[in-house]
Amino acid sequence: MSRFLSARFADLEAYVPGEQPQDMKYVKLNTNESPFPPAPAVLEAVNRIETGRLNLYPDPEGRVLREKLAAHYGVKPENVFLANGSDELLNFFFMAFCDRERPVAYPAVSYGFYPVYACLYQLPRTEVPLREGFRLEPEDYCGIGKNIVIANPNAPTGRIISTDDIERIVRSNPDHVVMIDEAYIDFGGESCLPLVGKYENLLVCQTFSKFRSLAGGRLGFAIGAPALIEDLDKIRYSINSYNINRLTMAAAVATIENHEYYVNNSRKIQANRACTVAELDRLGFETLPSKANFIFTRSPQVDGGTLYRELKARGVLVRHWDRPEIAGWCRVTIGSREQMDVFLEKVREILREVG
Ligand code: PMP
Repeated sequence: MSRFLSARFADLEAYVPGEQPQDMKYVKLNTNESPFPPAPAVLEAVNRIETGRLNLYPDPEGRVLREKLAAHYGVKPENVFLANGSDELLNFFFMAFCDRERPVAYPAVSYGFYPVYACLYQLPRTEVPLREGFRLEPEDYCGIGKNIVIANPNAPTGRIISTDDIERIVRSNPDHVVMIDEAYIDFGGESCLPLVGKYENLLVCQTFSKFRSLAGGRLGFAIGAPALIEDLDKIRYSINSYNINRLTMAAAVATIENHEYYVNNSRKIQANRACTVAELDRLGFETLPSKANFIFTRSPQVDGGTLYRELKARGVLVRHWDRPEIAGWCRVTIGSREQMDVFLEKVREILREVG
């Protein structure tokens, strides 16, 4: 730290992203990317149409893409907000709606960026404990009287709550904004988007990074009441009005136009998830029920840290956290059939040698 850093950031603990080795030598199951490349039409759209226009700024309103997304989800373009990854969207949410008078609540075990933003903006925060088996109890949020962020499915657990439960939470906190982070909703979960028209305090956040194979393009979006979108835009125009670059915008439009390709990939991932869980069951692992493109699992024989290190030594990257509540567990992204076969083969080897 230099002596120039503002004192308000002295205690800030920054988010630590999952490892991103650039040499491709690992079977990479640590950051919940899709194992499938973008649809061929996406590659074409980026190469042919847009690269030659990189001398020009992108549309700060993202009109074409917002219209595409609006039509896809049956809402209006005024309901759609675009961000440079849903991480940026979360940043805008915390900045726009939370302060000392309007603190924030989120699950105690959830996406690691929520506490970082709360810390960045020095917000009073409530970390709501999960129940037995990392289950999120909707009652714990009903009438809590704070802004709320819930990842649904939750990360790193993969567990989901129902749209009815979300509706109860939203309805019981009419004076606060509820952000439902649906980064992993397209792997068998039910989105709460149909609630958006009914509630002025609900924001639903999604990403192109998982289901839509575009993690490298950095695109997230929110759908909510026009007034909330206007607030987010006010912040965005005060920070970076060109937050979505041309190539990503073109890629995203082609992505929406090729929806079936991604639905098909998601089906494969869900099938691979079922096979992986079944085999882990057979090997004595405990795995939480997951509606995401990852699973949260632990072995009675090998603790989470050891499993992570032994897998890494064998060329397979998964995610592990040292926090005591979850230190026994690993989060494993569901990849292609071939990747999961390698993962399971290495797990069996580790159980034989270390367990
Ligand atoms: N929300 C959750 C729950 C996540 O796990 C992630 C991915 N790490 C994000 C948001 C951010 O994703 P992105 O910025 O790539 O859209």
